[in-house]
Amino acid sequence: MARVTVFTLGGTISARGGDAARMTGTEVLAGLGVTPAGPTGVDIELRDFRRVPSSSLSLEDLTALADEIGTTVAGGSGVVVVQGTDTLEETAFLLDLLCTTEEPVVVTGAMRRPDLPGADGPANLAAALAVAADPGCRGLGVLVVLADEIHAARFAHKTHTTSVATFASPGAGPLGAVVEGEPRILLRPAAPTRLCPLRLDPALRVALLTLTVGDRGELLDTVAERYDGLVVAAFGAGHVPAWLVEPLAALTERMPVVLASRTGAGATLSRTYRGPGSEHDLLHRGLIPAGPLAPEKARLLLHALLSSGTKGPAGYDRPRISAAFAHLDGTGLA
Ligand code: ASP
Repeated sequence: MARVTVFTLGGTISARGGDAARMTGTEVLAGLGVTPAGPTGVDIELRDFRRVPSSSLSLEDLTALADEIGTTVAGGSGVVVVQGTDTLEETAFLLDLLCTTEEPVVVTGAMRRPDLPGADGPANLAAALAVAADPGCRGLGVLVVLADEIHAARFAHKTHTTSVATFASPGAGPLGAVVEGEPRILLRPAAPTRLCPLRLDPALRVALLTLTVGDRGELLDTVAERYDGLVVAAFGAGHVPAWLVEPLAALTERMPVVLASRTGAGATLSRTYRGPGSEHDLLHRGLIPAGPLAPEKARLLLHALLSSGTKGPAGYDRPRISAAFAHLDGTGLA
């Protein structure tokens, strides 16, 4: 019988009505009709890891989770992480960066509380267990499974505040689906997310700044004083107001500045627009393109890279950071 270790972190799937309290891991599984002895056909080990809304997960929580998952998969067990959906895609992507394993690691949750009609937790957990237990789902990287769809962590994105079909993979699509309780994989990622061993030091600080029209850049002063790196969620395909080019270029002298798009889908460009504040201008001033990576995920990748030897007393290793982002942009396999 396949072994799957279930880590419960809290979230809607474990909510006790609308207040802050969350159920224990045992209660969550029991509420979903699952006990370690059955009836899933999977040998389940439960880890009651945290009991919080996912907005209150810290980087310390997530690095501790990655460490525990590393030990778990080394013992030959698949993994299901059960948490709130608000930050689910960030957990999944960070685990994809930090965990090296062929074992299936699946992140799931629920959009409807257990006490509401049509609660989706039981179906999502059943689907996640089926994926985590299936040898055909090995080697796909960390997966997000909700609403019977199987998404790669790299692409998965929460697109709707309340829909049970909230998760999508803009620009890519799901890798597969769970049909009649069985995973069916239709696509495999062209390359693994992780290029080299990565760790994450929660003491480092990487800012994400989403630009809005008329932005005067006052927050950049704070970034310069307090952070080790910056991701700019810029307009369109990677554009900023002309007056922010100089401050951003000055920041690149001190820290890596990654250029991402705030649009939610599609890659940053490199040579289509050439005026002040265009993507061409910014890349030539030292910013690093995020490619198709969403700003929130670009922030985690930059944080992991800075924690893993690309930051030193003499500055930062721009070529290595650029190469890591380029690895995920689909232009070629590393
Ligand atoms: N969707 C929320 C979360 O991500 C629900 C909650 O507060 O539990 O955890």
